[in-house]
Amino acid sequence: MLKIADICHALEEFAPKSLAAPWDNPGLLLGDAGAECASVMVALDLTDSVLRQAEQAGCGLIITHHPFIFAAQKQVLAGRYEGDMILALAQKKMAAVACHTNWDNALGGINYTLAEALGLQNITPICTPQEDEILLLCGEFPSALSAADLTKTVCAALGLPVLRAAGLDDNKTYRKLAVCGGAGMDFWPKAAAAGCDALLSADPKHHEGFQAAHADFALLDGTHFATEVIGIRRLGRILQQKLPDLTVHFADEQDAWQFRDKEGRKY
Ligand SMILES: [Zn+2]
Repeated sequence: MLKIADICHALEEFAPKSLAAPWDNPGLLLGDAGAECASVMVALDLTDSVLRQAEQAGCGLIITHHPFIFAAQKQVLAGRYEGDMILALAQKKMAAVACHTNWDNALGGINYTLAEALGLQNITPICTPQEDEILLLCGEFPSALSAADLTKTVCAALGLPVLRAAGLDDNKTYRKLAVCGGAGMDFWPKAAAAGCDALLSADPKHHEGFQAAHADFALLDGTHFATEVIGIRRLGRILQQKLPDLTVHFADEQDAWQFRDKEGRKY
């Protein structure tokens, strides 16, 4: 039977830890590398719901994009997020692996998945992990899109009910788009300098909106969840192809951030 170490080895082949940013914490976070493991759960984040789903499916390993242990832990206490997760995993004898910026930056990883989901062509890096710790990609739509069509394209690709944007102009068309899954809005000056018309990323700051609009550049907030969840699911599919004897489950996950309309209803 496969061991946790075999699964880590397979992940290393297409999401090598050498690609991760220096501040990151990817790889095996908790568990016994020598333990046997027949099935894994793939998720964007480790949550109570994901833990429950993994236990019900009999998984020995949970693979997430975001490392649930990030800062150094001086105590492991119940009632805190990290403590509860560590205690629950240990009690259930489950391991946890994170494929974070190593998967952001890999060929075919989070950022390539995002670019391809949008139907972009001629996808090329604007800056590479070696230069700037992060892979920022750009690509072109087959034809220039109006602001409305760009909005529809992004919403359809990411399954979003609405799109928050800054600097998006109804009198302009958009052909060249930069993408960065997760919190990458601060890279917009690099995208603008590379000749892009807009950047799709998430977690924007207030001042980034008016500064980009001032530069006649559009920022599209695709949400952290939606810009990354498609990429971590692709990681699970690749792992399944590499290890046919492994059963790969995909967590049923929702963004913690929910849209509600002015009547209080969820979108
Ligand atoms: Zn992220």
